[in-house]
Amino acid sequence: MRLGFHISIAGSLQECIRRAVKRRCTTLQMFSGAPVQWRRPPMTDRQASEFADGLLERDIQPHFLHAKYLLNVCSPNLDLREKSVADLCEEVAIAGRLRAAGVVMHLGSVGSEGHVEEGTERVARAIDAACEAVPEGPPIILENSAGQGNIVGATFEQLAAIIASTHRPERVRCCVDTAHAFGAGIALHTQDGLEAMLTEIERTFGIDRLALLHVNDSKVPFGSGRDRHWHTGLGEIGREAMARIVNHPRLIHLPFIMETPGTEADDVSNMRRIRRLIRPENRPPLPPLPHDLR
Ligand SMILES: [Zn+2]
Ligand SMILES: [Zn+2]
Repeated sequence: MRLGFHISIAGSLQECIRRAVKRRCTTLQMFSGAPVQWRRPPMTDRQASEFADGLLERDIQPHFLHAKYLLNVCSPNLDLREKSVADLCEEVAIAGRLRAAGVVMHLGSVGSEGHVEEGTERVARAIDAACEAVPEGPPIILENSAGQGNIVGATFEQLAAIIASTHRPERVRCCVDTAHAFGAGIALHTQDGLEAMLTEIERTFGIDRLALLHVNDSKVPFGSGRDRHWHTGLGEIGREAMARIVNHPRLIHLPFIMETPGTEADDVSNMRRIRRLIRPENRPPLPPLPHDLR
């Protein structure tokens, strides 16, 4: 079992490692730049390989990139769509340089006038473009959505439709965000609902295609269609349901990434809480905290 957070790279890549070590991460996710800007800070090959080596040395593996929030490969606006596809190609190339295990992406919105089927086609074409631009690059990881604002990916069927449509299905993996699923009306907060979700995953894209789980609690009610992350076990999904998820034998091998709000102290509390939810026989050892970070 691997536990980690979405970690900021503000300052430098080395600073990102330091933050991850302080939070006792054994996996992480990050942006390659500011998520709301198209421009990226330059990254030399040396910086990239020192980062990858640094994570390997500390056994923080695997690590993932998350595509920008600006990205909308489904947009009805052609300019934004093209910009998004180009940026996804760049993201996959950077992920390769950083030896990341993949690029997690939100699938984008077709807008209030658009149809979801159009969206799944556009995502598939974006994947094809990125795979062509970076033939040996890491996987592209499709994240489910809460359905807010016509964002594609509120059902696992939509993820499966994208995979069926792309020319490079072997390059595609999936990420389930628990807060998004809960928002989309997938009842993962009940025991039967969690089993039904896993059955649905198996029926659609297949559980082996899961690359990671975003283990977020939700600040908004079940089926709200909204995406508001909350601290582990303290939201609407709650302790008991979170415990069932993180101990589930079919999920336990996955990297669990928390994208919870707040400060470093909040992250430390969330790590403590999620570890308490994990049964002792499943709970991984706590990585050591170096003296200079205490
Ligand atoms: Zn997420
Ligand atoms: Zn979210």
